[in-house]
Amino acid sequence: MNEHARVTVLLDETVATGKNAQSDHRQDTHEHIPGSVLRGAIAADWIRRNGQGVTTTPDFTEVFEGRGSFGPLHTPASLPIPLSVRVHKYEPTRKCHQLWWDAAFGDDAERCPRCEGPLERSKGQARGGIPTTTRTTAALTADGEAEDSALFSQRALDQGVRLHGWLHGAAVRALNPDGTPITSLLLGSRRSVRGKASVEVDHTVSPEPVEATGNDVVLRLAAPAVFVDDFGLPSSTPDLRELSEVLGVEASEVRGSWTRWDETGGWHAASGLPKPTERCVAAGSTYRVRCAEPPAENALRTLMARGVGLRRREGFGALFRTEPPLGFAAWTSVAASLRQLPGLTTRLRERLDPLRRGTVDDESYYRASHKMPPDVGEALRTILGITDADFYEQLLDYMEHG
Ligand SMILES: [Zn+2]
Repeated sequence: MNEHARVTVLLDETVATGKNAQSDHRQDTHEHIPGSVLRGAIAADWIRRNGQGVTTTPDFTEVFEGRGSFGPLHTPASLPIPLSVRVHKYEPTRKCHQLWWDAAFGDDAERCPRCEGPLERSKGQARGGIPTTTRTTAALTADGEAEDSALFSQRALDQGVRLHGWLHGAAVRALNPDGTPITSLLLGSRRSVRGKASVEVDHTVSPEPVEATGNDVVLRLAAPAVFVDDFGLPSSTPDLRELSEVLGVEASEVRGSWTRWDETGGWHAASGLPKPTERCVAAGSTYRVRCAEPPAENALRTLMARGVGLRRREGFGALFRTEPPLGFAAWTSVAASLRQLPGLTTRLRERLDPLRRGTVDDESYYRASHKMPPDVGEALRTILGITDADFYEQLLDYMEHG
């Protein structure tokens, strides 16, 4: 078995991965599945198969409490905009060519040169939207009875959404209890609505390498991370010794960091008590780290699946890489060449809802693209690469109406 595995989850029912309940009886959801929720769901499956006694076995301890990583499950749209990036403060215009200015690559500006609008630093918000639904039900008391006149609103990820993530190290074994692969899970956090999800695991695919340029690597956090210094105090930067060990070359210096503090919390399932809060670095935080020499690509792939810092088994320290989106002006020639094929926009519109849910299947589009005139086929393949559904819709509107 490989030391990493890619997990794909298709939500068969709505799933809420609760942020803390608010006093006004509204509960919000994370717009992804945190690694801690994935780990809890898999552990529950082990217990369902083998009884509570399994939790005291060395195997269970190594898989769920060991040094492995349970990464979060995301769609391309649910990943954060890195904190090193500046974006338009107001809506970009059709004249705008560039949408991200990434200080991690030395690209910094105060204003967009095309629309002259002000730019602002990303706060780590999700790159795009993910379909959610809100249900209002009677709030339950501790005994599970409806509380008098208390209505409770729960926002949840919609069914039919597909998300992906990585497991690494001993955590990979979690997916094969008793040698039988897990094919479905009940996802959702303790005090939220749980929903059924189909699970597919790929043990052969490799993670993408962490971004690298020359001797530098760029680390972007897909989840909050817990780092400590030599005294065990919270630190805002990753441990260079840990990075050196994983990368196989000396990581010598954090040359740039774009971070925010966050707090961990959560619920300890075994004791039924809230966990102590701990300072962590927020998702979207970005580091540029200098190495003594360029790390091998394989090491960059391992680092991607493994993540960085402490408590990786609880989903902390997961990494991602990202491609900057292009502004409208960068797409107009592509859109213009596709206008030659009447009827194509109708077919492209059929992708819109699957694109929002992360379930788009482009095989027939790619096949068709190879039968088109070369420039049109290439334009089609380019447009199939757009991950932002709202932007994709704008572009289709432009193709239809100008
Ligand atoms: Zn602009």
